Amino acid sequence: MSALVSVVAPIYNEGPGVDRFVRRLGQVLGDAGLRYELVLVDDGSADDSWDRIVRHALADDRVRGVQLSRNFGKEPAVLAGLEHAAGDAVVVIDSDLQHPPSAIPAMVQRWRDGAHVVEAVKRNRTGQGLIGRVGGRLFNRAFTRLTQVDLVNATDFRLLSRPALEALLRLPEHSSFFRGTSSWIGFRRTTIEVDIDHREGGASRWTFRALFRLAVNGLTSFTSAPLHLVTLVGLAFAGFSVVLGAQTLIRWVRGGALAGFPTVILVLLVMGTFVLLGLGVIGEYLARIHEEVRGRPRYLVQEKSPRSMGGADPRRKTPEETAEVPEQLVADRK
Ligand code: UDP
Ligand code: MG
Repeated sequence: MSALVSVVAPIYNEGPGVDRFVRRLGQVLGDAGLRYELVLVDDGSADDSWDRIVRHALADDRVRGVQLSRNFGKEPAVLAGLEHAAGDAVVVIDSDLQHPPSAIPAMVQRWRDGAHVVEAVKRNRTGQGLIGRVGGRLFNRAFTRLTQVDLVNATDFRLLSRPALEALLRLPEHSSFFRGTSSWIGFRRTTIEVDIDHREGGASRWTFRALFRLAVNGLTSFTSAPLHLVTLVGLAFAGFSVVLGAQTLIRWVRGGALAGFPTVILVLLVMGTFVLLGLGVIGEYLARIHEEVRGRPRYLVQEKSPRSMGGADPRRKTPEETAEVPEQLVADRK
């Protein structure tokens, strides 16, 4: 039997986009003659995305759906998909068709040629506003510099071999950052260039707040450089205060004090800012520690799609599936 390729896609309120996506993938993967399964993770969509997924799963037993109990965010959704994938290789792809499915056969070929991780890097960034583009680039630059994990032009569109996937799933952190962790694990890797398309239908599901959280999570899980930065700024201020202190003392001894209110105000403002920023940075790390220590599951599964026919289920059980509800038909739910 030829190797099985799992395609994992997170889905959040994509509506008719789900049908478009399943159709496109069926076409591309069918034409390439690949044996595949489609793992669609509904990240707590409020629209009819789940019903659509179930319909596809009933019509085609290569399609499987997993429904999370609420909106956990893209990262946990991807993780859920990865843990439910049974393939010898797993491809993670956005369900909004911004990542061109047509690149998958080439990625699979690279994997057959011996690569364990195949990353699609973007040749362009259409489909993103100016701010998103500049912000994304700045973040990726800073991240790459601080952590030695290369994110410039990186996407979440990646293929992982089974060994690489097993390695990735061993990372226990709560706020996972797929782009970073899938680089961190190492393994023989290669890249292919893709053009990122415009989103088909709807707007980006990311809010500024969510993106900011992702950036902070990504940074704090990969580097403690911001903490060291706080220390360095503290040291700089120590030097500064010695100089200023000496000057003040000399003035006082000479009896010419009292001038210098602007200095006082400036010093207060600057110091206050840095103290608060420093506290903020420490707070971010503390929050991460708190999150990890609580050790809650990273996502909860509410329901899985019914199988179109009887037959062995290749899935492996995972500890994350604690809140599992017995499989039901959609009709029962209504
Ligand atoms: N997504 C998700 N949960 C979320 C937000 C997004 O599963 O809370 C999915 C979404 O359905 C899509 C992918 O993640 O398949 C990328 O989302 P989006 O296109 O909004 O992000 P962008 O392309 O702007 O980075
Ligand atoms: Mg998108």
